[in-house]
Amino acid sequence: MKRINLSLLVLLIGSNLVFGQYKLPTLSFKYNALEPYIDSTTMFIHYNNHHATYVANLNKALEKYPELYKKTIEELLQNLNQLPIEVQTVVRNSGGGYYNHNFFWSILAPVGTTNISAKLEKIIINNFGSIEAFKSEFEKAASSRFGSGWVWLIQEKTGKLRIISTPNQDNLLLPIAEVQGKAILTLDVWEHAYYLKYQSKRAAYVKAFWNVVNWTEVEKLLANK
Ligand code: MN
Repeated sequence: MKRINLSLLVLLIGSNLVFGQYKLPTLSFKYNALEPYIDSTTMFIHYNNHHATYVANLNKALEKYPELYKKTIEELLQNLNQLPIEVQTVVRNSGGGYYNHNFFWSILAPVGTTNISAKLEKIIINNFGSIEAFKSEFEKAASSRFGSGWVWLIQEKTGKLRIISTPNQDNLLLPIAEVQGKAILTLDVWEHAYYLKYQSKRAAYVKAFWNVVNWTEVEKLLANK
């Protein structure tokens, strides 16, 4: 009997090793909340299949190195070169996918719930000349990203705003990132993000995106700088 209890104890202690596993974040809106711009089916599949798979693959890849579960996803990506060589590619791809989608959902909001404030408008105008010029540059970066990737509005250390794009699931946190800065806004331009509704019309999806940006969150990220 004592032996059984001991086994149970070992099992419980063992399960603590996976306590820090990465988790799919809870969405702050319903799957249909971004309709008609991002449809409910796409949102459901994107979150439950694509995003969930990145998390599952990341967790699985780190099973042999449970001490890494204690690190934040940002720490893993920032220190990619110091990780065991056999997990570096999975962390870059699945860990990147995990982080990027966490961030993407956080800057989306149901239609009509947030607006560009006068303060944010002034900052954008100071950096890009006008709101239209900002959107146009962002849309151009989204359209010209060949294959799969992301478009980002970032804030450089100097405070200057810039638009960049990254391939696959890469982002600014990686040591190989060409540009340094803090992510302020992002858009997923992988086909899985829009194909069901927009098919090959990526540009229409990018234009629709402006209707579901969480401008309050965007401004908060800038203010925290
Ligand atoms: Mn995606």
